[in-house]
Amino acid sequence: MNGGRNCDRINVAIDGPAGAGKSTVARKVAERLGYIYIDTGAMYRAVTLAANRAGIAPDEADRLGMLVGKLDIRLKPGAGGQSVLLNKEDVTSAIRTREVTLRVSQVASHQPVRSRLVELQRQLAADKGIVMDGRDIGTHVLPDAELKIFLTASVQTRALRRFQELDADGRVSLTQLEREIADRDRSDEQREISPLVCAKDAVVVDSTELAIDQVVELIVGLSRTKLAEAK
Ligand code: C5P
Repeated sequence: MNGGRNCDRINVAIDGPAGAGKSTVARKVAERLGYIYIDTGAMYRAVTLAANRAGIAPDEADRLGMLVGKLDIRLKPGAGGQSVLLNKEDVTSAIRTREVTLRVSQVASHQPVRSRLVELQRQLAADKGIVMDGRDIGTHVLPDAELKIFLTASVQTRALRRFQELDADGRVSLTQLEREIADRDRSDEQREISPLVCAKDAVVVDSTELAIDQVVELIVGLSRTKLAEAK
């Protein structure tokens, strides 16, 4: 029972390091539950893309703070996944370049950037029925989410998955990818504001030995249990 609030839907928070499969899993879980999927990493990537275009370096906290206040970032759910709109321009592919990936962690470490995006994320989740993935969802953005998952996998597995996703043009060596993922983990785990940590009440899922569909099945099952408890 939850005091008359909407108990037909819950919020599901999925956190974890880069390449653990969060976005694929979160999208499929949302589809299965009929919920909306929100990829918060895409929002930090959109700010990074805008900063790159405006010639703002990832360590210029004040300029980034001013920039983020002027950006209109929208996530549009669609059949093939989620589209990302930056000031009405579709930047779904542009935010996935290596240039953005290498800078996003530093851009995401600044308080003014985080405050603005967290505010947007909380608005999006206010009516429940959301599956949101990121780094600080269960610990900071939605501390009351009914289900919290910490999805992880070994660095080698995560690098291999990313390697297989890259097309020939963007291909870098597996060793290089492992190094970049480990660097991004370190930067996300060690930043002062909302670092990547496992929430105390999160269910830890190690996907190193699991197929995506097994992880999805597990999370859908846990969601249904939580939903029944919330009623
Ligand atoms: O999820 P994805 O790997 O696309 O996220 C890109 C980066 O955005 C992460 O490495 C992290 O630095 C930042 N991020 C964050 N907080 C979130 C989601 C992403 O700091 N909730």
